[in-house]
Amino acid sequence: MDLGIRGRTALVCAASKGLGKGCALSLAREGVNLVITARGREALEATAAAIRKATGAKVTAIAGDITTPEGRAAALAACPSPDILVNNAGGPPPGDFRSWTRADWIKAVDANMLTPIELIKATVDGMIARKFGRIVNITSGAVKMPIPELGLSNGARTGLSGFVAGLSRQTVQHNVTINNLLPGPFDTDRLRSNFAFNAKKLGKTPEELARARSDANPAKRFGTIEEFGDACAFLCGAQAGFITGQNLLLDGGAYPGTF
Ligand code: NAP
Repeated sequence: MDLGIRGRTALVCAASKGLGKGCALSLAREGVNLVITARGREALEATAAAIRKATGAKVTAIAGDITTPEGRAAALAACPSPDILVNNAGGPPPGDFRSWTRADWIKAVDANMLTPIELIKATVDGMIARKFGRIVNITSGAVKMPIPELGLSNGARTGLSGFVAGLSRQTVQHNVTINNLLPGPFDTDRLRSNFAFNAKKLGKTPEELARARSDANPAKRFGTIEEFGDACAFLCGAQAGFITGQNLLLDGGAYPGTF
């Protein structure tokens, strides 16, 4: 299926590794020109080079922290009028809410709610004027099925989902859609760091926890960043203009509900 987005431009945030990288790669395969960001320049440049080599796409790497005004300004200077925006950033750390301060909460809300909203604000009116826009926020399955030790993530991301639910119904008439992708367990550095955190608490090895978690998933495995990227590319496709305001779980069936 040709997604009809060849020659379009995408800003893919937090994309040197993991889910963001998966999205960047899938969009590049569709012929989309990319601006990708991450804090660490070396890994980012390596990813940009790998995507160029694999797909022939034009890829610009902008190093910076997307959760800061300076990081967002640098990304937007390189990509002022994206047709596609993929919002992503590292997730907040796990912990016990009793130890979180107001500053911890502000940091999480800044990174996982206000940063995507700022980037949407900076780009959505241009998309509306050009009558094409696709915005995908990488959030978490925790929005539907909260994870006890990730309270900062549960809270901040659900706030973003509520905001998007309202805005996405206002933009769709202009062929600008906004959707959230909710990852369950995907095999990335982030997932492995969660196992390392919990292993210490439970007196098990990270490998034991990883095996138990993948065995407990109906798919009996973790998702891959390629699967995630292709779902993102589909939502960014020309054919997906009637899908908006949705929270799409990619979790191998882990969420137990009928709806
Ligand atoms: P990952 O493998 O650790 O990759 C994170 C990527 O984001 C890296 O490229 C990292 O590069 C970049 N990044 C992190 N913070 C950034 C920032 N402030 N500014 C710019 N770039 C930043 O993580 P992942 O598993 O792909 O997770 C992506 C998001 O999905 C996270 O919010 C995570 O909580 C969420 N999630 C993941 C899973 C899962 O199973 N993997 C499940 C649910 C939710 P630098 O470190 O160099 O900046």
